[in-house]
Amino acid sequence: MAANWKMYKTPRETEEFLRVFLPQIPSGLACDIVICPPFVDLPAAAALLSGSPVGLGAQNLNENAEGAYTGEISGAMLAAAGCRFVVIGHSERRQLFGETDDRVNKKIQAALKNGLTPIVCVGETLSERESNQTIKVVERQVKGALENLPSAEVSRLILAYEPIWAIGTGKTATPAQAQEVHLAIRDILKDQYGSLISLGVRILYGGSIKPENISELMQCEDIDGGLVGGASLKPESFLSIVNFDSKRLAPR
Ligand code: PEP
Repeated sequence: MAANWKMYKTPRETEEFLRVFLPQIPSGLACDIVICPPFVDLPAAAALLSGSPVGLGAQNLNENAEGAYTGEISGAMLAAAGCRFVVIGHSERRQLFGETDDRVNKKIQAALKNGLTPIVCVGETLSERESNQTIKVVERQVKGALENLPSAEVSRLILAYEPIWAIGTGKTATPAQAQEVHLAIRDILKDQYGSLISLGVRILYGGSIKPENISELMQCEDIDGGLVGGASLKPESFLSIVNFDSKRLAPR
């Protein structure tokens, strides 16, 4: 379960969250946990997360190693700040900051070069869904993101299917809608890299996950976890999500 905090929380608020959240994580959880705070919160989060089972992630990186890119942050900087994960190609970055599939591909390469696990987001708009373009759009995004990556690198990725119409809207995809796209993504991976890799890549669902809907989403065969925005901002709510009812999880 990965928490995407977007542009919320100062370093002090991040510390306050973690001081409440960390002691309440039960042992033997059915999932791994990653928290992705804003860049300036990373040092405070890294200090509190060290020695905990929770991984630290960033929400973006620049694809270049270094240089005259005012305001940007490199993969090496994130790794040095204690990150192990980085969100790449979030729909807000694609829509508000013009990120293309090609740029997403370059960012993935930069992340991998620095030992970071990319959490690569894909997903369709409402009008694309309504015109039956969902699978075509997601296929283009997945193939574009992974272009020219060797299989060994693909196996290190996490993908996140986030229908744009479900992000921050309170409208979650139904388990059936999400499962259909997750299976399509799994099939694209299988066609291109074989079954072993397709089964090993974790595919997260994101879009208005809440404590009330996480268990039914997690029962879908091809949903391996969640990328959670709004509902990850309060410790109690994110704790309920990481404690989802996993009793009915079928082994793959
Ligand atoms: C997100 O930003 O990745 C997200 C899924 O947001 P929310 O959970 O608030 O819909």
